[in-house]
Amino acid sequence: MIDVLNIQTSQVKTSKVSQCDFDNLVFGKTFSDHMFVATYANNTWQDLKIVPYGDITISPALSALHYGQAIFEGLKAYKNEKGEVLVFRPMENWKRMNKSAERLCMPTLPEEVFMGGLTQLLALDKNWIPAKPGYSLYIRPYMFAADEYIGVRPSNTYTFIIFTSPVGAYYSAPVKVRVETHYTRAAAGGMGFAKAAGNYASSMLPAQLAHKDGYDQLLWTDAKEHAYFEESGTMNVMFVINDTLITPPAADTILKGITRDSVLRLARDWGMKVEERPVAVKEVMDAVNNGTLQEAFGAGTAATIAHIAVIGYEGKDYTLPAVTERKFSNKVLKTLDDIKVGKAADPHNWIYKV
Ligand SMILES: *Cc1c(COP(=O)(O)O)cnc(C)c1O
Repeated sequence: MIDVLNIQTSQVKTSKVSQCDFDNLVFGKTFSDHMFVATYANNTWQDLKIVPYGDITISPALSALHYGQAIFEGLKAYKNEKGEVLVFRPMENWKRMNKSAERLCMPTLPEEVFMGGLTQLLALDKNWIPAKPGYSLYIRPYMFAADEYIGVRPSNTYTFIIFTSPVGAYYSAPVKVRVETHYTRAAAGGMGFAKAAGNYASSMLPAQLAHKDGYDQLLWTDAKEHAYFEESGTMNVMFVINDTLITPPAADTILKGITRDSVLRLARDWGMKVEERPVAVKEVMDAVNNGTLQEAFGAGTAATIAHIAVIGYEGKDYTLPAVTERKFSNKVLKTLDDIKVGKAADPHNWIYKV
């Protein structure tokens, strides 16, 4: 058992928080004062510490840079009206990080390292959590192979870090997406279900090609036939057809989003018909054409819900129903955002209070 009370903490002398321009935050560019660091060596997690956020020294032969054993998580902390620190379902991120770790042949993290590090870091840097509506502190846990060795084999040493970044209210304007029928994000037997750096690397070229043609992101389809929807950009994808919420099943090609799970849970609570099953591109395009498709959206931590306004398919753009008419996705967005900041009841105990 690792003694998390024994996290060595070296605090900054002066916090940078007073210099932070919270009114003009650009996503991912501002970092809080401290970071949590743990080292895996000799088959055990050790040397847990909180240190000032700053550069780390690495070898040119760092294994992760060559063979890509690198995984991450993303979650957010909020402040409620009393100024208490709330985190949305962090245990799910811990569990998912370990699933990713297993797939990439990396060591799993004990709960007390992930949750202990997270809790102490947030307690120390809580002044970085903006109290303004919609604002939050984005939390980035990640792990990489740390051996100085370029032979191909799983690394023996690893580094786990958590740092945080204050972010403004994230509103996703309705997106224009293109059905991708050439490139694939993930294949059966691959690592699509893992939050692995490499999955993001392989998605950048297809995403850039879609941008050039005026689309915000891609609707990924299955690798075998390009006939079934899988995800929307880096979010899970959902459709409402004939009042039924439909989403692809969380198989090994799909990242099992915590937002996805939360949306499905709330839909079921509200008595909505929910189907987790393969969603054919043809089914959705037919529904667009015959007027039975009511809603389409991406679900993920960054925006919670990103409404899909337009779907590009086989060279033609199809405009979906107006966002103002979308009852379910607007309601679930508001409810989830309210639960996250402690403004709505939390019947499933999703909130972790630091
Ligand atoms: C992170 C991620 C999601 C969303 O997961 P959340 O836990 O809801 O943030 C969906 N798809 C991919 C590919 C992702 O990396």
